Amino acid sequence: MLNKVLVANRGEIAVRIVRACQELGIKSVVAFSEADRDSLAVRLADEAVCIGPAAPARSYLNPPALISAALITGCDAIHPGYGFLSENPYFAEMCADCKLIFIGPNAETMRLMGDKSIGRETMRKAGVPTVPGSDGELKSVEEAIDLARQIGYPVLLKPSAGGGGRGMRVAYDESDLQRAFPTARAEAEGAFGRGDLLLEKYLTKVRHVEIQVLADSHGHAIHLGERDCSSQRRHQKIVEEAPSPIVTPEVRARMGNDAVRGIQSIGYENAGTLEFLMDQTGNYYFIEMNTRIQVEHPVTELVTDTDLVQWQLRIAGGERLTLQQDAIRIARHAVECRINAEDPERDFLPAGGEIEFYLPPGGPGVRVDSHLYAGYTPPGNYDSLLAKIITFGDTRDQALDRMRRALSECIITGIKTTIPFQLALMDDPVFRSGGMHTGYVAELLQHWKESRSVAR
Ligand code: ADP
Repeated sequence: MLNKVLVANRGEIAVRIVRACQELGIKSVVAFSEADRDSLAVRLADEAVCIGPAAPARSYLNPPALISAALITGCDAIHPGYGFLSENPYFAEMCADCKLIFIGPNAETMRLMGDKSIGRETMRKAGVPTVPGSDGELKSVEEAIDLARQIGYPVLLKPSAGGGGRGMRVAYDESDLQRAFPTARAEAEGAFGRGDLLLEKYLTKVRHVEIQVLADSHGHAIHLGERDCSSQRRHQKIVEEAPSPIVTPEVRARMGNDAVRGIQSIGYENAGTLEFLMDQTGNYYFIEMNTRIQVEHPVTELVTDTDLVQWQLRIAGGERLTLQQDAIRIARHAVECRINAEDPERDFLPAGGEIEFYLPPGGPGVRVDSHLYAGYTPPGNYDSLLAKIITFGDTRDQALDRMRRALSECIITGIKTTIPFQLALMDDPVFRSGGMHTGYVAELLQHWKESRSVAR
């Protein structure tokens, strides 16, 4: 069992990790930047250490600062949360060199999965269906054009090192691809420090369906079913749910077995997620693996009655994963809305300000994971996630009705949030029927903006 954990993150996920530590009797130390001195995680943790100025490069992305913070406070492990250094193999290696347990997989597996083209190749070899595309990185625009001729347009250029939906470009024909290639490469270089690109068949009207996995250090691995994250804006998830309205028990078992076989082929350890695209007929294709806890993990926790963050800590401490595959039941339906400090009426423009008043929703079937409190001013240096409202029920309809109630009850004043758009989504007939695809929110947003401007 771990004794003391450094939380190398901020916001709601830092609070989530502190809570998991407390419930397991593990001491927690929150590493915070100067901008996060007043954060809720700092207040809730047993200890807190300032690791540098607000700029992420000098605090949450600075391995020596984090490792020193862990060592001087006597921590035996570091939880990286999501984002920041959570998928950085060098950081995992540095932790190991300093005899600190990195809560996640080892650097080698992280390196394999951190590169999308190597990740896809690795999964293909393990017999997991993958999106048709390039083997490894593209060497030239000519290679991209040749490949696109073979697999057919439209195609998607993607940074191998990408994340957060950034830097992807769709090409509908050869001249598009000619034009997009240098721009995509330059963008990838700028955003991720590496210009490598891969090319994939661009699948349209597909769903984003991902499988949660857990594996211990004794060779035991399971999956906990899927999450449907098809409601996205600019390739970023805004609403997630479990189970997926289109996944049958038979498809779940097949995808889950593929995922478990895939991670066992690389000796994966800890929590992880395999992301797939699924077409209307239930065919699915692996796109990438995230080797960390994900923002949307609570929906899986609620439908399977498990605590994924506690399992991360227990597995990192060497415990055996006692959950057995045939005991995992999808007992109910859960949905999560990401509440961001953005103004949906102004094209999701980032919003700032002090939280004047905050009343989170409550009542049956509602969970809120958030770092907000009245009087708090979220720093503008980081991502704009304010809260995750998660609701659950016996059926999808009940979970969605509760979400509508919870969103209406939630009061956050002093700052604009995405709640008005999410409320509209809860009443949208296509979303309600479970018929959305990854491009659907963009279509709906267009109608929503038009109807709001007519109403004014
Ligand atoms: P990131 O790591 O930047 O989040 P992903 O590879 O996970 O990128 O893809 C994010 C989203 O982009 C997917 O959920 C999906 O909506 C879209 N996408 C990715 N690959 C494809 C593809 N080959 N065809 C169609 N859409 C895709």
